[in-house]
Parts: sequence; structure tokens; C-alpha cells
Amino acid sequence: MSKHWTVPAMEALKADGLRIADLNPSATPGFTGDKKYAQGLLVERCGVLSDLQEKLYANGRSGDKRSVLLVLQGMDTAGKGGIVRHVIGSVDPQGVDHAAFGVPTPEEKRHHFLWRIRKALPRGGQLGVFDRSHYEDVLVVRVHDLVPRSEWEPRYDEINHFERELVDEGVTLVKVAMFVSLDEQKARLRERLERPDKYWKFNPADIDERAYWPAYQEAYQAMLSRTSTAHAPWYVVPADRKWFSRLTITELLIEALERLNLDWPPASFDIPEQLRRLENA
Ligand code: ADP
Repeated sequence: MSKHWTVPAMEALKADGLRIADLNPSATPGFTGDKKYAQGLLVERCGVLSDLQEKLYANGRSGDKRSVLLVLQGMDTAGKGGIVRHVIGSVDPQGVDHAAFGVPTPEEKRHHFLWRIRKALPRGGQLGVFDRSHYEDVLVVRVHDLVPRSEWEPRYDEINHFERELVDEGVTLVKVAMFVSLDEQKARLRERLERPDKYWKFNPADIDERAYWPAYQEAYQAMLSRTSTAHAPWYVVPADRKWFSRLTITELLIEALERLNLDWPPASFDIPEQLRRLENA
């Protein structure tokens, strides 16, 4: 842990008892360094992450069924894409199982809401990333009344059971909710309208969604309160400062991987014998 963290990221960002209404999206809980320092540190920590991920992958190749799954949730412009690009982008792509979840397709709509999620789970040894997830089914669905309450209400318990099952099967869940302020969101949307290299990210519907912020706040609060469990806790990341959210999520992944106590898998062959064969080949 760098000297600029006063407590580990998992400690500083845990959702327990947190009220979103009290959250300051430009805060940097647990971290005392500035932007310049954080950017240098990010490069160093992404190297550490990459080494740990390689160990996870190597163990997966040797039959280890364990995996790590980063679940990213956040309002539009919170920076989920930046995490995928700058944090996950720093590790070997062979070992990454990435899935993004948008509006369900007609086929997905015919199935249970966890159907498409189960299909996208990381295999043993993989670092999975969900850009949006099963939580959309208690967020956008709840906010926009896409199904009646009687249908979304039981989903919190279902999700807790589902995640218990995943943990028992060896999946370490790192659930991250990113929060951007309405002002910062406006600035990021404006940038998408001002820069040709960002037009592709702009969706006119994102402006309409801003009016639903209080309803989203309520839905996010319910999500955190009801699905942050001991086996699959939520971490809340203030996201107005991209350098902080990127550094923090890198730290959360490092801490999760370190808890797996990974070592290099032992040789499955006789080393002296193979060396002898090589000499004579
Ligand atoms: P992004 O906005 O993350 O760049 P997309 O343009 O694919 O990606 O948008 C994803 C959209 O899909 C979001 O508006 C999100 O709310 C919506 N979505 C995701 N899951 C569901 C769901 N289960 N039901 C309805 N809408 C969903």
C-alpha cells in the first residue's frame, strides 16, 4: 500500500451504512495524494495488477476454477468505459472476460433476468468485467417501471442468492458503484457535444435521464442497502476525479487478487528430465 493511502481501498470505500445523499463525488476517501502523484502511482499499480492477473491466469490454465469478477455500475458518464480502457486495459487481454449489458434483446427478454448474466460469467483463471450488470434490473427497470414492483422487488433476494452461489463456486466479486455529480456529468456530456472524437459517446437520452436522478438515487440506495453482503460487498467510488476512480478500482482489484494467495503453479513435469531432453534435442 502506498504511503498516500491512510487505509486500504477496501476499507475506505465500503458501502456499509453509507447514504448516497451524503456522498461527495469529488472526495478522495482514504487517499491523501494529488492528481499528479496518483497518475504516476496508477502506472506502478497497474503493473502490480498485471502481475497478479497473470498468476490468476496461469493457475486457471492449471485447472484452478477461481476467478475475479469486477461489476461496474454507475450513471452515464461516471467513467465505466475509462476503467475498462485504463485499468483492465493494462492487463493481458487473454485473461479478460469482458461483457457489457445494454437494453435486453428480444431473446434475452424471453428469459429470466439472470440468464444473460450466467452466460457471461468468467471462466476459471479469468478476470471478468461486467460493464453494467444484473443490477440494471433493479435500477433502470425500477426507475422507469419497466416491470411491475411485484416483479423487481424479489430480485434483491434473488441476486443475493445468485451471488452466494457464485462465491461458493470460486468467483470473487468486486462490486463497484461509481458516482458522478450532476455538474460534472453536465460537463462530460457537454464535452461529448464539443469534441468530434467524443460524439460517438453521446446519446440524447442521457440528457433525459438527468431528470430521473432523485429516482436513481433512491434505487441505488436500495441496491446498496439490500445487496451489500459479507460475501459480496459493494464499494462506492466517488467519480468526479477520474484519476481517483481509476486508482481506487485498481487497488480494489489488487486487494481482491492478493486475498487469493496466488502462487505460480508448480511444474507438472520432471524438470531435470526435461532439461536433459532439451540439452540433447
Ligand atoms: P452505455 O450507456 O453504458 O455506453 P449502451 O449505450 O449500450 O451503453 O446503453 C446501455 C443502456 O442499456 C443503458 O441505458 C441501460 O440503462 C440499459 N439497460 C441495461 N440493462 C437493462 C435492462 N435489464 N433493462 C433495461 N435497460 C437496460
